[in-house]
Amino acid sequence: MKSKKYLLSIENIVLSLLFIGFTSSSIASLPVDQRPRLDDDQWIRISHHDHEEENHSHEERPADEKVIAEYIQAEFIGLDSFGRAKIIDPVTGESVTVDINDPEISFLNEEGVLAEYEADIEIVAVPNFYFPTYRTRLSGQGGSRSVGKLKSWKECSGSIKGRYAGASRCTSRARVVHSSLYDVLMKMPSIAGGKSIYLVHHGITGDRNHRKRRSLHNSFRAIDVSEVKVNGKIYRYRTAVRNSKSAERRFYNKLIKNWESAVRKRCGGVVNATTINWTDKKHRSHLHLGTTYNCR
Ligand SMILES: [Zn+2]
Repeated sequence: MKSKKYLLSIENIVLSLLFIGFTSSSIASLPVDQRPRLDDDQWIRISHHDHEEENHSHEERPADEKVIAEYIQAEFIGLDSFGRAKIIDPVTGESVTVDINDPEISFLNEEGVLAEYEADIEIVAVPNFYFPTYRTRLSGQGGSRSVGKLKSWKECSGSIKGRYAGASRCTSRARVVHSSLYDVLMKMPSIAGGKSIYLVHHGITGDRNHRKRRSLHNSFRAIDVSEVKVNGKIYRYRTAVRNSKSAERRFYNKLIKNWESAVRKRCGGVVNATTINWTDKKHRSHLHLGTTYNCR
């Protein structure tokens, strides 16, 4: 039998103590104030689905955009003999070790949800200034170290429901998103025009390819959507793409307009490219909904 280490959080520390004999270390996950309780149903292992292999060239950061600090996706290498997590920034290739109980850090699985076992950890959500190059740049600018905030989107139990496109149902574990994306997502009822909203999406964190460069996805600021259900009525994105006269096309045009204005309202100032639709040939299967790097 393959041995697995349980991820421990403050909330289930009592439960953890029962297992302490089997674990060499405990792993806490972010965000602290919203650290989800691990209820019984959360101990179900989430099935693995590969992300769609696609390039998102549009999501490269414009050169003139100034971002002081933000959350980035680091790659998890494993625990060292002291129980510290070794992580690598896939963009710069830099590696550091971090405290697994650091409340600023979230350990996620391939799908971008809080990992359950050490073996499930694929991505580590970490402030960029944990890496030496960012730290140097920041101290040179005398910069603020604020990275904003990550929030937990609960797609099974929250007010905006949904599921990963490759999964048969929602995940009961928390999906980690940037606070700006979370806030705009919660406006979905007015954006999509209905009380009950269900999203079929291709995830937030992006595929492996994606993580090798900075993108709105690997800073937890974007979601790719292929279907939206409003008050029980399904609007498939592919239908909107194929048929410009369809009710779906009218629906998505309205949704795009409302999403962009909601982002402007949330983030302030000039905001561009927060949505990418069928006019881009890489977005014929899903609609890109995001915020911007400057949005705290
Ligand atoms: Zn996208």
